[in-house]
Amino acid sequence: MTARLFIDGQWVAPVSGETFDVIDPGKGKPFAEVARAGAADVDLAVKAARRAFDEGPWPKLSFAERGAVLRKMAALISDRIDELAELEVRDNGKPLPEARWDIEDVVGCFEYYADMAEGFASEQSQPVSVGADDFTSRVRKEPLGVVGAIVPWNFPMLMAAWKVAPALAAGCTVVLKPSEVTPMTALVYGEIAEAAGLPAGALNILTGFGPEVGAPLSEHPLVDKVAFTGSVPTGSKIMQAAAQDVKTISLELGGKSPFIVFADSDLEAAVEWIMFGIFWNQGEVCSATSRVLVEREMYEPLLERLSAECAKLKIGYGMDEDVLLGAIVNEAQHRKILAAIESGKESGARLVCGGKAPAHLSEGYYLEATIFADVPTDASIWKEEIFGPVVCINPFDSEAEALREANDSEFGLGAAVMSKDLERCDRVAEGLRAGIVWINCSQPTFIEVPWGGYKRSGIGRELGRWGFEAYLETKQITSYH
Ligand code: NAD
Repeated sequence: MTARLFIDGQWVAPVSGETFDVIDPGKGKPFAEVARAGAADVDLAVKAARRAFDEGPWPKLSFAERGAVLRKMAALISDRIDELAELEVRDNGKPLPEARWDIEDVVGCFEYYADMAEGFASEQSQPVSVGADDFTSRVRKEPLGVVGAIVPWNFPMLMAAWKVAPALAAGCTVVLKPSEVTPMTALVYGEIAEAAGLPAGALNILTGFGPEVGAPLSEHPLVDKVAFTGSVPTGSKIMQAAAQDVKTISLELGGKSPFIVFADSDLEAAVEWIMFGIFWNQGEVCSATSRVLVEREMYEPLLERLSAECAKLKIGYGMDEDVLLGAIVNEAQHRKILAAIESGKESGARLVCGGKAPAHLSEGYYLEATIFADVPTDASIWKEEIFGPVVCINPFDSEAEALREANDSEFGLGAAVMSKDLERCDRVAEGLRAGIVWINCSQPTFIEVPWGGYKRSGIGRELGRWGFEAYLETKQITSYH
């Protein structure tokens, strides 16, 4: 099954007949083989999605009927949590308990959008009064059309769920392209769709590489919307491709999120949230708080405590017990992070701990938890996304300075502030130019609230009602009496 694509409700070989290996980054060895789709497969999948949209039945079902199918999908995924979590560990390298959270969140996402669809029927069409007695108007929400969903490798099944669940709930049809680095769990969506009775063509899945699948998908004239999560350079290419036929896009891109810690904070709480904010998922998190600004009085004590905690972090294979830092997703990313660490050393920043691959792990792509302090603010490690377990920490002397430094970035995805003074937290939160601000924590993500970035971190919002309406068109129907 795995060397197949899911197109129009069928498992089919790619037109080229080609496959590629999937590597387990924890072992550095291949563990599966999947189909290598190309432009011809993209065309077949998009046409299937187009037919399923134009001829139905999926977009023509009621919101409640679609909600029921999504609920079934949630239950089917829930039945397979253990298997899917293990598959995510082998695909991505993350520790098993973190993979389980991901899959539990996938189930929660399908349940949430099932609820939203079921509750939306009464809101689909709303009267709006216009300034003329002989006219009446109503505004109706309708599914947007065919969606190309292109996702990254850091939370493979979950990033797909954030797009597939609301898009299907809204009545759209989807062509899903997982990352070539982590294609395994995306394929399971095909099995789930079949078992839940999703009509043929409503969800199509293509494994393959960015230029061979993602590019033709974002250029295809029959696609109405491209929903993308990934890096800024790829997002920019997708925006250019989508401009050709004025497609709708949503872009969830990178970040270099700041974490401001005031000296009145509890030291242990600060240590805990900084550690989670950067080392969760090996730091391969778009919103990772990778730039920490600490009020000077707390700076050295905090660095000391953090470095002691880093020394205790168990690094190893994601399936092994008590592992907190799993493998980096692949060799290329491992090399990229090591190069960033080298550039950090050359910049004159102080390497507080970490900075290399752990000596005790001979196979797979592992890295120590790494802290840089006293980082020049023009150094690339301070400015650019590393997407690995590397945090940069600098001191500050005033609230205004902290806010200025935090906002001095081309990104604006996440940000965090910690202080016992809640008025100050609110003031700083309002001043931060970011789409997601955490107070006295970093990273907790709730499906009810919008997710997305300012500046180069993206366009549009996922999750909550915002992430549902992103897959709806708005139509006015005006009558003359
Ligand atoms: P990437 O941009 O390299 O790849 C993402 C996806 O795009 C993959 O499926 C890839 O095959 C595809 N792709 C590559 N070239 C393409 C092209 N020319 N046209 C269309 N598709 C193409 O990103 P990645 O390395 O997989 O993921 C890491 C990046 O994702 C980081 O920058 C991270 O910050 C970002 N990210 C953002 C969020 C968010 O919610 N904002 C969440 C997770 C990851």
